[in-house]
Amino acid sequence: MLARMDCLLLAAAAEGKFLGLDPHFWKIIGWMANGIFAARFLVQWYATERKGQVTIPLTFWWLSLAGSFLMLAYALCYNQDLVFIFSNAFNWIPYLRNVIIHHRHKAAHRDCAQCGAACPPVAKFCSQCGTRVEEVESSKLKAQSPK
Ligand SMILES: [Zn+2]
Repeated sequence: MLARMDCLLLAAAAEGKFLGLDPHFWKIIGWMANGIFAARFLVQWYATERKGQVTIPLTFWWLSLAGSFLMLAYALCYNQDLVFIFSNAFNWIPYLRNVIIHHRHKAAHRDCAQCGAACPPVAKFCSQCGTRVEEVESSKLKAQSPK
């Protein structure tokens, strides 16, 4: 039994690599990029289950940006495979654009006073409850104005 355990430990640590993993700096960066990419899908899945409808939270785009930049750095500095470099060279553009649009939308949206849903700035009616957003806004203003 002990000999079998020794055999397994020796196989696991063969060539100075534990389970065949290389503790090289760029390998760690590459695995971090993979972990961040995997985390973004978990974040999106959680947000969708929580809201009960398909949704892509802002965190998804930040994780996409971080993961793609780390993967591009790995591809440029260590892997140096043109296919790998090209596949990570331009995907940061839509990720960054989505972060910008998310922030613009958040700054410009209207909250529905009836249900609290965030509505686009051009919306006349709430997409969640159908309440007229402008009417709610104006009645809210009347309620807040001093008498
Ligand atoms: Zn509403």
